Amino acid sequence: MIMTSEKQQRWSPGRRGALYCSPGCGGKCTWADYQLARKRGHTLVKTLTAKLGDGWGISVFESMGWRYTVGRGGVSVHVSHSTIGTATSYFALLGEPGGSGGLSDWTDHSSYDDPVEAVQRTIEKAEKVMAKWQQWINTAKGVSNG
Ligand SMILES: [Zn+2]
Repeated sequence: MIMTSEKQQRWSPGRRGALYCSPGCGGKCTWADYQLARKRGHTLVKTLTAKLGDGWGISVFESMGWRYTVGRGGVSVHVSHSTIGTATSYFALLGEPGGSGGLSDWTDHSSYDDPVEAVQRTIEKAEKVMAKWQQWINTAKGVSNG
């Protein structure tokens, strides 16, 4: 997406004392929360890397407070809104890489204490849906499932 310079300016956070917030946000986000989001994001990357391998990256963004997600390819791990601040519960979305969310076909926003489980369950759900779709395709093509 190409942003106009005005839009870029609106979403460029500026530091003023304890505040670190964009004009477009206006949520009085703080530098401390930004640092905390980055720190928690790094911790989540380490947790996911240890169990699921390399390739995870952090995205820190503003939405009336600093938030973060960690993703790899089309899967992204999010802190459940009900636990923002304590970061004890996670959900995962799976969709187009670089996109902003998950396909509704397998997204149910279930929350998990373990972010690794959130990723694994989401991938399992997607695989079940894909297997069902493949069966539909096979049936439509007259291919037997044997
Ligand atoms: Zn802000």
